[in-house]
Amino acid sequence: MTGPIRERLMVGGPTTVPPEVVAAGTLPVRDERTPAFAELIGRTTDRLRALFGTEHDVLTCTASTTGAQEGVIQNLFSPGDRILVAANGFFGERWAELGAAYRLDVVGVRSAWGDPLDLDRVAATLAADPSIRAALCVQVESSTGMINDVRGFAGAAGDRLCVVDAAASLGAVELRADDWGVDVLVGGSQKALMTPPGLAFTMVGPRAWAAAGRATLPRFYFDWARARTALVEAGRTPWTPAVGLFVQLDEALRLLAREGSDRVRERHAELGRVARAGCRGLGLKPMVGDEAMAAPTITAAWVPAPLSARVIVDRMVARQGIQLATGVGDQQDAVIRIGHCGHVDRFDVLATLDGLELVLHELGAVSVLGSAAAAALSAIPHSEERP
Ligand SMILES: *Cc1c(COP(=O)(O)O)cnc(C)c1O
Repeated sequence: MTGPIRERLMVGGPTTVPPEVVAAGTLPVRDERTPAFAELIGRTTDRLRALFGTEHDVLTCTASTTGAQEGVIQNLFSPGDRILVAANGFFGERWAELGAAYRLDVVGVRSAWGDPLDLDRVAATLAADPSIRAALCVQVESSTGMINDVRGFAGAAGDRLCVVDAAASLGAVELRADDWGVDVLVGGSQKALMTPPGLAFTMVGPRAWAAAGRATLPRFYFDWARARTALVEAGRTPWTPAVGLFVQLDEALRLLAREGSDRVRERHAELGRVARAGCRGLGLKPMVGDEAMAAPTITAAWVPAPLSARVIVDRMVARQGIQLATGVGDQQDAVIRIGHCGHVDRFDVLATLDGLELVLHELGAVSVLGSAAAAALSAIPHSEERP
């Protein structure tokens, strides 16, 4: 058997970077204290605003999204503040961990992994305790492949600050921060935005600025006020940014704008449908059973015993050149996760499903070949293919 000649990165992130964005990364390093950089950061900031659905501030820092999340805690809160974290997976818990690391008083409203957030319990908990200052959650929970109802969450958060991690959804999923009443959103460069890892974005609305003015936790590198001053007054960042990544981001955002945000969203929605249908065809049950709550950017599926997710993922790389992810936490060996986010089309997903079928066949879990493709192709609307 010949080995793979091409690598396919099919994890939640980092994701495949398109050739134009790779090329942008080969340009010489430039100084950021120039009119050209000011123009560039102005453009990327405007385009990010559109993706977040906001007219308010978007700040870009050199860090992965977790850095921006740490900045959220530092800028919004004071020692001992009480916050509500609604969690139904690994990344929801990250907000709780961050809050605990800064000695905040974290009230968890937890649902089982793969179950929706309990918005009634969020609203009731806030109503019963006026001292809770903010409600935090995740839009696409990449540990389970669920998309949480951010609009409903913002409604449940009511008069408290509403903070959402959109790392695994920004650019691929509808976000209307201002209309929905979301005060803070975070995201990163390495998922739907098709840029290498290293830049993170924070949207800050007016209520969040007011809270930041009163908050007293120590902050420096991720200080929002310094970032806004540098951006507004000088068209730069307060510290040396990853200049090359900004150039790549600018190119990636240009490509996304050229495709059009509606089409980008529709493409991701289809990728999700194809991936889930293909998994079902292979006997791998998606963790999120309700199609309306399944994420367009990543699919997590149960691996039936005695199969091991680790073995499947390892063989997928070795035999097919396709990188998938295992589950996280307790589900590490029982779940595989397929990312279909960013520079991905239906044929990448179809190839991934076929590769998965070959590996499952080799492991004796599939007897007749062809069920992944048959199920996956049925999720693509055929009428559009006919003349
Ligand atoms: C990828 C991801 C993050 C960010 O993780 P980093 O390792 O800091 O990039 C945060 N939240 C969610 C839901 C994610 O999928």
